[in-house]
Order: sequence, then structure tokens, then C-alpha cells
Amino acid sequence: MLIASRPAPNKIMATVAAVKISVPSDSVDPTNAWDRRKVKQKVTKVTPKSHKEKKKEGHTRFVCISDTHSKTRHLKALPEGDVLMHAGDFSNVGLPLDIERFCEFLKAQPHPNKVVIAGNHDLTFDTAHYDQLYRRFGHPEMYNSEEIKASLANIPSVTYLEDAGTTINGISIWGSPWQPEFCDWAFNLPRGQPCLDKWDLIPAGVDVLMTHGPPLGHGDLCQSGLRAGCLQLLDTIQQRVKPLYHIFGHIHEGYGVTTDGHTTYVNASTCNYSYRPINEPIVFDLPNK
Ligand code: MN
Ligand code: MN
Repeated sequence: MLIASRPAPNKIMATVAAVKISVPSDSVDPTNAWDRRKVKQKVTKVTPKSHKEKKKEGHTRFVCISDTHSKTRHLKALPEGDVLMHAGDFSNVGLPLDIERFCEFLKAQPHPNKVVIAGNHDLTFDTAHYDQLYRRFGHPEMYNSEEIKASLANIPSVTYLEDAGTTINGISIWGSPWQPEFCDWAFNLPRGQPCLDKWDLIPAGVDVLMTHGPPLGHGDLCQSGLRAGCLQLLDTIQQRVKPLYHIFGHIHEGYGVTTDGHTTYVNASTCNYSYRPINEPIVFDLPNK
């Protein structure tokens, strides 16, 4: 009797797949959208792990940086770890020399794995829109986007993710460069459904999610007092994907770590509001699977 009363496995699958994220009309106004929702949300500040803390046996150490904006030569030696994560904006406008220097920086890092996504400043990485961007941002010519991207993606220790995933020590990772539009830079999308279409590509249950922009309510408060995060990204994380960690940057002044009780949110911006690369890398460990 007990067995017969359990739902069939395919029915459970159908229920999981049926989690659909809504696009309410206030999606276009993140500051107000958060004011309406914040009483129901838990946002607790987390003290990041000390870089000196020893890693436990059978764990993978992630070292998170972001928004280095062509200033890696000013960085102190990064903490040791298994995976270096960079959440985009490694350049200012994606010029080939800056990408070449970033590649040299990546090659020089001792971490056996480096997972990298692009951000809105890395113009040459947005292959689909670069032809509409390069003149406006003063590039002397239209560079070969695919070639520049390949110069980074082909570094043996690097995994470049663009709406794609990878697995390291059994831990699943997904990376996406998109953010709600901001002055028509690279990887910009209108708020609402166009952003959700990208978040819908994230598989449910991914362990570590990395996007360039923050979700609404975590690490997204701007100097101006306005919020810049994406409501559909928050809903996707909390209602469908439920990752253990979400790493991002983009809003430099939102640097730091918070939790909603399940997902830990890491704004890893290395540069501060004035583009000085002074924020410490953020480190966390996950058990291997
Ligand atoms: Mn930035
Ligand atoms: Mn950015």
C-alpha cells in the first residue's frame, strides 16, 4: 500500500521541470521590487573564510576574484586553491593587449583550474554584438572576437564559460556573462523575460553558479542607494536552481558575502567603487563528490 501511494518517478521529474519563474511588471524597477519583497527575504552577512585556514581532506578550495579591470599587476599573490574563479570585467573595454595581459596573468597562477566568464566591459567577448559596440567604445578597428576569446579559452588550465557548465572534482559549475542592461555595453539584456531566458538555461541543482551581475537583494546595492540586481535571477536561484554558492561581481561597492539560509552569495569584485583593486579574494571550500 505504501509503495503504491508514492508518486511515480516520472511524475516527480515533471513537477521539478514545472517550476516556472514569473516576470511581474515591477521586474524593470529593482529598487522598488526589492522594497516590496524584502520582508519575506533573509539576507545575513557572512564573514569570509580566512585565507590561512587549512583545507579539509577531500575538499575543493575555490578562490574568487572579479572585476580586475586590467589591474592584475597591482594584485598581491592570490591565496592557494584548486579553482580560481573570475566573474568577469577582467578588462576595461576588451582591447587585445589587455586580454593578452590577462591571459599571461592566468597562466602565471598556480591554481590547477581557472573558471572564467566575461562581463559587460569585455566587449570583444560578446561575439554577437561586438560589431555594434567597437566604434562607440573607440576601438581603432573591429578585432576578431572569436580569435580573442580562443586565446583565453585555449589556455590549458582555463575553462571559459558562456551559458555553459563544467564539473571539477564532481562539483558542478555553471557560468553566464549576462546582466540587465546598463548603458548598452556587452552582454546586456532588457530586464524581465530576456534575462530569464538565459537563467532558464541553468540546470537545476548546479552546485556553484557564476554570473557577472548580482541577483536582486544580495551584493547589488549601488553607491547611489539604488539596487541593480536581477529579480528573475534571484527567483531562479531560490525557486529552481538552489545552488550552494552564487559568485558574481559587477557592482563593485557590493563586495562581500551574504546568505539566504541555503545559497551563499559572493560578490567578489576586486576593484572598489573607484576602480582600485584592493578587495581581498574570497575563498570557500566544498566537499568533493
Ligand atoms: Mn566592473
Ligand atoms: Mn560589470
